[in-house]
Order: sequence, then structure tokens, then C-alpha cells
Amino acid sequence: MNKKECPGCAMNIDVEERICPICSYEFPRQAPWLQWVAVLLVVVMFLILVFI
Ligand SMILES: [Zn+2]
Repeated sequence: MNKKECPGCAMNIDVEERICPICSYEFPRQAPWLQWVAVLLVVVMFLILVFI
């Protein structure tokens, strides 16, 4: 069974959990690749602004 560390209470909980059963920390639903796309977009926009 895969575990992940809760940022709220530093306990290892099931990766499937959306909300920590110990401290009720709510994990963001956003897919990890979506964050990378957002970062890439910001970098590309910055480069365009610099080179124009
Ligand atoms: Zn927690």
C-alpha cells in the first residue's frame, strides 16, 4: 500500500486519501502535470517579454 506524508501533521496516510483523517488537511485536487504546464507557460511568457 502506498503512503504519502501529510503536510499538515507529517503523518503517513494512504495516497488515495483526499483529506487527512488525522488533521483534516485537504490535498489539492490539481494534477501534478497541470502545475508543470502552468510553470512552463509562465517561463515561456517571460522569455517572450525579454526577447521582444
Ligand atoms: Zn494530517
